[in-house]
Amino acid sequence: MSTFLAMPALRSHGGAATVPGTQRRLEDSFGRVATDLRVSLTDRCNLRCTYCMPAEGLDWMPGDEILTDDEMLQLIRVAVTRLGVTTVRLTGGEPLLRKNLEQLVAEISALEPAPAIALTTNGIGLAARAERLAAAGLKRINVSLDTLDPATFKQITRRSRLADVLDGISAARQAGLDPVKINTVLMRGLNDHEAPDLLRWAMAEGVQLRFIEQMPLDAQHAWQRSEMVTAAQIRESLGRHVALVEDPLDAQTRGSAPAELFRVVGSDYAVGIIAAVTKPFCGNCDRVRLTADGQVRNCLFARAESDLRTPLRAGASDEVLADLWVTAVAGSRAGHGIDDPTFLQPDRPMSAIGG
Ligand code: SAM
Repeated sequence: MSTFLAMPALRSHGGAATVPGTQRRLEDSFGRVATDLRVSLTDRCNLRCTYCMPAEGLDWMPGDEILTDDEMLQLIRVAVTRLGVTTVRLTGGEPLLRKNLEQLVAEISALEPAPAIALTTNGIGLAARAERLAAAGLKRINVSLDTLDPATFKQITRRSRLADVLDGISAARQAGLDPVKINTVLMRGLNDHEAPDLLRWAMAEGVQLRFIEQMPLDAQHAWQRSEMVTAAQIRESLGRHVALVEDPLDAQTRGSAPAELFRVVGSDYAVGIIAAVTKPFCGNCDRVRLTADGQVRNCLFARAESDLRTPLRAGASDEVLADLWVTAVAGSRAGHGIDDPTFLQPDRPMSAIGG
């Protein structure tokens, strides 16, 4: 029998403020405390990035399995008001495909204490919505962009939408979202030669570029370590065009941030490289994930999940949901284990986890 059924039936308090005496922490057995919640709003996407999913897309989650706006908000409220979550990042799939996104952002930003709200998006449709999202309370944004070349964009994403993404990035800046970060995955022989151009472009645009090592999270299970462009190779490639030094402030301020920062000599610009595979940062991880169908995941690479949707739909109170969430996080593993010979890629692809 699931734990929630064995617990006393408590009514949801429904209020936004922290309930006195109920503040808990999402702490695991290694002393890590999760304060950064990544919520996947949908597993659907309007791009078909080759490193993420096949050309034909995936079997999307059935609509009745996806949390409604009210359900999503209830779980986010539990995390923020009872479990010490201070940042809520909305992702997917493509979060801009979620209807009522602006409303959801407004409701999350009305929680007390108000969390910092961030969005990770491919930028398609952002041009028309950035202002409204900012007005609703969105603060920060990450837009994914792997190339500045329209033909390469089409090759990677299987769609001709580069101009929409670039318009979305401009609109995000104009709307005052800050920082605007750019997530870039490099692939050998496809766009890895573009790293210096992307850096020059990002410096001119005033956006923060972050290269991410490609991870084994594609639905096709085609990832091969030997093919991956490593953080060291990215740094070397950039270094052939601009002088980079390790950011002296980075070591003191990095905390749980996944990107290692390198300052471009002669400027105050710092480019980030996220060595998720070759230099994992699991020891400092402060993230926890909620999937669009209401499952808690402690790690991108977790093979186990904790179901919150079933208890939620059975009427579990906020207090009971908080208890279940605390238990789910307590069992986190020490690290993602990609280097372990027994490593198995998770069943869910990145698009259904929330990157
Ligand atoms: N659709 C949104 C977007 O494009 O940003 C949010 C979801 S997407 C899964 C989030 C981020 O994960 C994107 O920056 C994407 O490039 C990255 N990503 C997807 N698959 C990846 C992989 N196998 N390795 C590394 N990053 C990946």
